[in-house]
Amino acid sequence: MPIDATRPYDHDNVFAKILRGEIPNKTVYEDDYALAFHDINPQAPTHILVIPKGAYVSWDDFTANAPDGDVVGFIRAVGHVAREAGLVAPGYRLLANAGLDAHQEVPHLHVHIFAGRPLGPMLAHPHE
Ligand code: AMP
Repeated sequence: MPIDATRPYDHDNVFAKILRGEIPNKTVYEDDYALAFHDINPQAPTHILVIPKGAYVSWDDFTANAPDGDVVGFIRAVGHVAREAGLVAPGYRLLANAGLDAHQEVPHLHVHIFAGRPLGPMLAHPHE
């Protein structure tokens, strides 16, 4: 079910549980600002999720309310993960679903990193 990105943060969401170590994950990278791990249901040969350590529902919540240091740290972490995975030369795609129309399912900000094959057009059905 897609979530409404304007709702308050739910501390029981699956990524909050991953950050607390209550649910296992395949960690790719971790620092003070971000955790990166493999998506449980990969949509491309490489499908990594990068999440901020702080409690932010969505890209909107994060960019409106996070301190500058958290924003910089998180964005640098996304770049670092892609670079360290060797994705710069072949290329990669970032995606952050925010709210209902984007079909955001987990109410903790996450950036998807897709790579490993030509990824096609930006949207599956651009004219629908
Ligand atoms: P979104 O639709 O942008 O909210 O994407 C949520 C993503 O989280 C999906 O790609 C799911 O496969 C992924 N996901 C959900 N639960 C887990 C989990 N426990 N570990 C890793 N990825 C997960």
